[in-house]
Amino acid sequence: MSLFEYREGVTSICGLSDKEALFTMDKPTLFHLPGEDHSRAVLVSTLLHGREPSGFRAFLKEAEEKRSYLFDVYFSVGNVHAAQLKPYFNQRDVPGKEDFNRVWVDSPKTEDQRTAAEMAAFFERLPLIGFLDIHSYIAKSIPPHGVIPKMDFKTKRLIQRLSPTAFLVDMNLGSLLEKMGKRTTAVLVETGVNNSPEADAHAYTSLQNFFHAIGILEDSGELSYQTKFYDRGIQFKIKEDVSVMWATYKYKNYALTLREDLDTLNHTLVQPGRIFGWSDSLDVFTTNDLHRSVDDYFSLQNGIIRVTKKVVPNFLNTEEKIMKRGGFYFFQEV
Ligand SMILES: [Zn+2]
Repeated sequence: MSLFEYREGVTSICGLSDKEALFTMDKPTLFHLPGEDHSRAVLVSTLLHGREPSGFRAFLKEAEEKRSYLFDVYFSVGNVHAAQLKPYFNQRDVPGKEDFNRVWVDSPKTEDQRTAAEMAAFFERLPLIGFLDIHSYIAKSIPPHGVIPKMDFKTKRLIQRLSPTAFLVDMNLGSLLEKMGKRTTAVLVETGVNNSPEADAHAYTSLQNFFHAIGILEDSGELSYQTKFYDRGIQFKIKEDVSVMWATYKYKNYALTLREDLDTLNHTLVQPGRIFGWSDSLDVFTTNDLHRSVDDYFSLQNGIIRVTKKVVPNFLNTEEKIMKRGGFYFFQEV
């Protein structure tokens, strides 16, 4: 039995609410909307994270339009199971299962990785000319933004149609974006705060802009953004066993104190010397980067942790759990 479901057309979900449509599925599901010309196709990925339904809702809205496309369009609905946990569309992953955007690895070992591999093998056979992955986020302090897996001309041109900022993420995370970037022009949009009307609206606009830019719909010739690019991303994590406190000064009984207003640094240009927190050791952080270390980005003097480079932090969220599991990223201006 297939680990994902394939559906021809959208009649099974047309006219349904997001919840109703979700419950017609019991595994990751791929929808095919045939276009005039089958020699080319695009793939749009939604709901890789269960609490990020903006792309899924954009897909449902798009399905209602019953548009005719120049080429084939595929929509994938990824982490159906996480989204189905109550309260619906509020759980990123299924507890005990993997992050469904970290399982797109070359040699699958776990059940989730095998599901991803089976889907990836299917995507491999499609005559893709473009890929769009739609996400949303929890941090309320940041605007919508773009993520790209490579910096070639086509990728840059495409993200310029979708986002004023773009972060190059090429860290072998096992994401679908990285996987698809090896095959086609691939971009990701983070559309806004999870389950907000703004994120849903932005996802739909992004989808339309993507279709126009890639030539699935007649190009409306809309203007591009003067996109600002960030690269040299590095991922850090706070070590699992480190006790963390949030304050405006060093807390004695905690291994790490982080500045209380850390999230105000999110997506801003942070100058060298800026205080990040307080600790007796930089060992509270780790990175799995092969060429760079924690010391390259942080200094420790008199118990004060400072940033040592001009960086743009990208915190998914500044909660302790997220900073330990998902980690946080530093980028640099291109
Ligand atoms: Zn996501």
